Amino acid sequence: MRYENLNIWDGESTSVQQGALVVADGKFVSESTDPNDQVRDMNGLFAIPGLIDAHVHMCLDPEEKDPLQHTAPGREKVTEYIRQRAAMMVRAGITTARDLGGGEYLELDVRDEIAAGKTIGPRLICAGQPITSVGGHCHFWGGEATDEETVAVLERQREKGVDLIKMMVTGGNITPGSRPVDSQFKDQTVTNVVAVAKRYGYHVAAHCHGTDGIRQAASAGVTTVEHCSWVGESGWGKTFDPAVVSLMANNGVWVSPTINAGWKRFTQKDFTEMVQENYRNMKAAGIRLIASTDAGIPNVFHHDLPRALPVFAHFAGLSAVEVLRAATSDCAEAIGLGDITGRIRPGYSADFVLYEENPLINLEVLEKPFMVVSRGREIQPG
Ligand SMILES: [Zn+2]
Repeated sequence: MRYENLNIWDGESTSVQQGALVVADGKFVSESTDPNDQVRDMNGLFAIPGLIDAHVHMCLDPEEKDPLQHTAPGREKVTEYIRQRAAMMVRAGITTARDLGGGEYLELDVRDEIAAGKTIGPRLICAGQPITSVGGHCHFWGGEATDEETVAVLERQREKGVDLIKMMVTGGNITPGSRPVDSQFKDQTVTNVVAVAKRYGYHVAAHCHGTDGIRQAASAGVTTVEHCSWVGESGWGKTFDPAVVSLMANNGVWVSPTINAGWKRFTQKDFTEMVQENYRNMKAAGIRLIASTDAGIPNVFHHDLPRALPVFAHFAGLSAVEVLRAATSDCAEAIGLGDITGRIRPGYSADFVLYEENPLINLEVLEKPFMVVSRGREIQPG
């Protein structure tokens, strides 16, 4: 298939280029070798690489407030809900997502169905059960471990066929008795888990709200720090530590801030300015950011990344091009898919989204995709 007369943003440049996209066997190619290839005039539509959400929970229902109730419908129904969420995501232009935790590995089943073309959805990479402390953040997912047991939990994820490892380095909000400020493990434990994961070729995504946990994760050399909330005893965002930032920058750690569309409710000037300053300082130190929403937590819907990106841009102080890179080429690189997706380039998976207006000029356009192409397959938006 040859899509002609497009304005193409390749995932990296600062502007769009007029041109055509040629797709064969699910990939972009430079020219078609098929003389009977179909040619379609796209009338100047705008094409960008498919969007990537680096932090979702496919098994969670955003309308369910009680974290213990998510498994109540039973495995079959929850699997069906995951399929429905996946379909809505790809229809919204999200062609890849990284799942950072669940309890029953049902998202891994749907991952495989999507890869086999049996169900439509984003390409998924999944972490399975996050490693957490006894009674720690999201312990109900089954990944509880004392410091000594952490590697055993990692090994169990490996047997289940995960793509990466998720570790709850600090506490979190949704778990009763868990505090975001607190580190859950000894320094040495975090270092050891990361070392074992790397030996198996896994990335590690580290859930970190507290500044001490961010330090542990950064010094252990995790791949991505999730949330990165700079929480100390004085509250959210208030314990920004430049020494930890340099540690992250030196170790090439990406930050996945999980800023979702719901952050629009934070209209307090003090809070906004504090968050913006933290991101300004991180950016100045060379930290790279990726787009993520934590979809699945209460009121954060799986298909809402397009709505989240303008809000992310606002809080993190990113231009439209920067935020789009964070949701395409940079995100793909951070999650280990930098040679596969996130760019419009021959040899890459034909994952792209078409819009009637230029998203580099107005990010709000992302909410209204004209058409989505996922691994060469055309999908009607919804
Ligand atoms: Zn999460």
